[in-house]
Amino acid sequence: MKLLSVIVPCYNEEENIALFYEELMKNSAFFAQKELDCEILYIDDGSRDGTAEEVRKLRKNDDRVHLISFSRNFGKEAAIYAGLRYSRGDYVVMMDVDLQDPPSLLPTLFSHIEEGYDCAATRRVTRKGEPPVRSFFARCFYRLINRFSKTEIVDGARDYRLMTRQMVDAVLSVTEYNRFSKGIFGWVGFRTKWVEFENVERARGETKWSFWSLFVYAMDGLIAFTSAPLTFVSLLGGFFCVLAFVMIVFVVVRALIFGDPTSGWPSMVCIILLVSGVQMLCLGVLGQYLSKTYMEVKGRPIYIVKEEE
Ligand code: UDP
Ligand code: MG
Repeated sequence: MKLLSVIVPCYNEEENIALFYEELMKNSAFFAQKELDCEILYIDDGSRDGTAEEVRKLRKNDDRVHLISFSRNFGKEAAIYAGLRYSRGDYVVMMDVDLQDPPSLLPTLFSHIEEGYDCAATRRVTRKGEPPVRSFFARCFYRLINRFSKTEIVDGARDYRLMTRQMVDAVLSVTEYNRFSKGIFGWVGFRTKWVEFENVERARGETKWSFWSLFVYAMDGLIAFTSAPLTFVSLLGGFFCVLAFVMIVFVVVRALIFGDPTSGWPSMVCIILLVSGVQMLCLGVLGQYLSKTYMEVKGRPIYIVKEEE
């Protein structure tokens, strides 16, 4: 028998725990047919509702269900990492508990692994039910990051993917603190088959992502996977040096030919404001990279487990 690990990050999802379990178990016949044993790892990411109790209820009847509780909310990336660490399966799949990653796709994903792919990943081709502004910014982000990063980051890719043990070990060997999974999965390489599906709306409860938290996440992704902003500010600095040099020559020549009547106070103020603004911007970009480096250097653990069962 081969073992399949199912990793399910949950944060305040008490209404969805049992629902997800039922939906996953609709694949029982498929598991039996493929001689797959499974373990279901619910990663309770510091929930404050009854998430852990719901999982324990399931555990009473099914010892394939496991619960790993964090000491506080560490974020989905940390939950995924913990899940991968705890998984023992020959195959590992990650799914959202809100049923936005349909468990009914599992047989399709598995068939691609059987074909010889190392990973079968999903991407949604529509963004139905999402605010248009959010979709617009998401598209811009993917265009930007793919323009500048050597790692391919697929638009609409979900974290829902089935991987072989070999690929999971590769992902685990990337131990950085600022984890941007979508990038890490691409970075480790291997042969990935993309399976497309229509966006499904969340079963119950609400999304944990506000526009602002998505923006911060996007920035983290950019900083983790490209240093293009640093190159950009260097070029900007170069451009301003050249501009200043040309202006100096111009002003000196003009003073020699026409004399030097005192004027240009407003233009001077504009120039000072512009240049100091640009300097602030460059400092800010540098600061972003420095702060990420600072967090990496501290080497804090990515998550802390309170209890596991
Ligand atoms: N999640 C988590 N920790 C968090 C936020 C979310 O483990 O800090 C889980 C959440 O319970 C769900 C999945 O990550 O299973 C996706 O979250 P959500 O549905 O809120 O995101 P969306 O689908 O809107 O991108
Ligand atoms: Mg969701």
